[in-house]
Amino acid sequence: MAHDRYGRRLHYLRISLTDHCNLRCVYCMPEDMTFRPNHELMQDDEVLFFVRLFADLGFDKIRLTGGEPTVRAGVVDLVRGIAATPGIRTVTMTTNGILLPRLAHALAQAGLKRVNISLDTLDPAKFRRLTRWGDLEDVLEGIRAAEEAGLQPIKINAVVVRGYNEEDVVPLAGLTLDRPWQVRFIEMMPFAGATEVQRTLVVTVPEMMARLRAAYGGLEPVDGGRLDGEARLYRLPGARGTVGFIATLSQPFCASCTRVRLTADGHLRLCLLREKEVDLLTPLRQGASREALRRQITDALWAKPWGHGLAQGEIPLNRTMSQIGG
Ligand code: SAM
Ligand code: SF4
Repeated sequence: MAHDRYGRRLHYLRISLTDHCNLRCVYCMPEDMTFRPNHELMQDDEVLFFVRLFADLGFDKIRLTGGEPTVRAGVVDLVRGIAATPGIRTVTMTTNGILLPRLAHALAQAGLKRVNISLDTLDPAKFRRLTRWGDLEDVLEGIRAAEEAGLQPIKINAVVVRGYNEEDVVPLAGLTLDRPWQVRFIEMMPFAGATEVQRTLVVTVPEMMARLRAAYGGLEPVDGGRLDGEARLYRLPGARGTVGFIATLSQPFCASCTRVRLTADGHLRLCLLREKEVDLLTPLRQGASREALRRQITDALWAKPWGHGLAQGEIPLNRTMSQIGG
């Protein structure tokens, strides 16, 4: 079982399958983003090799992300291989949902358990403005496809951006009134590529909560506002589903962090908001032994940074959010 030097048990690996994406969300990447050529990305056998290695170290939960994970060729077979790896209990995915009408059923059959679908507004014009060229109806169809395929409970991720969608927290949270969904509101975080938007247009969780209380007359903590992963859960009065708040800036949850990330180019990133990474793909391609790679990973995990330094103005600028995957 893997631990860091602060005693946190690490067992959750997020793997970015590609840095490519079929949208260009304003809070994630620049419009003229250039993507890595395929040969620089982990190939399927390399992804599966690392999954087996992490599973041996006690990692049991995998989340696939991107860029947009569904644009990766062969994603269904890759999910099947990951889900069949001994020791892996759950495989989930974070997606913009656009390709789910085509893929949801096959992904579920391959062993995917759940999806988090990103949706920041229910207004088609605002959706287009936030994603630069997305069509809201595609995502709504994707959500329906995920539900029909049994990828449940549905979780919706909404990043809130001032001047774009801060009023939309009200109708988005309203989705939980008659659906058993979890709608999670995310405080925007700063990275490379869209740093100005990310730094200047933040809407904090306390502000989002105040807006929801004013609109719905209350917001009840679920189990004392327990953390579900990184989200603190609440319920609108009488709602079937829950709303979650991911307050990276205003209420950091670093003490309970159990996760690390593997970027699409095979770097182990120890904290979302710290630049520190260890390149695993180059040594693998240079013929490093399994034992040597395993040692590199355990040493890196041990040295996982305690937490982010956003409050001190330390912004990770070596990658865009899309190159890390969230
Ligand atoms: N393309 C997929 C999607 O959009 O769900 C997966 C990758 S995306 C980078 C993962 C999550 O990060 C999404 O929910 C997205 O909204 C969120 N995200 C992107 N940029 C962000 C930022 N600057 N701050 C906070 N969350 C962000
Ligand atoms: Fe693509 Fe997801 Fe980033 Fe939007 S948030 S640009 S869908 S990777």
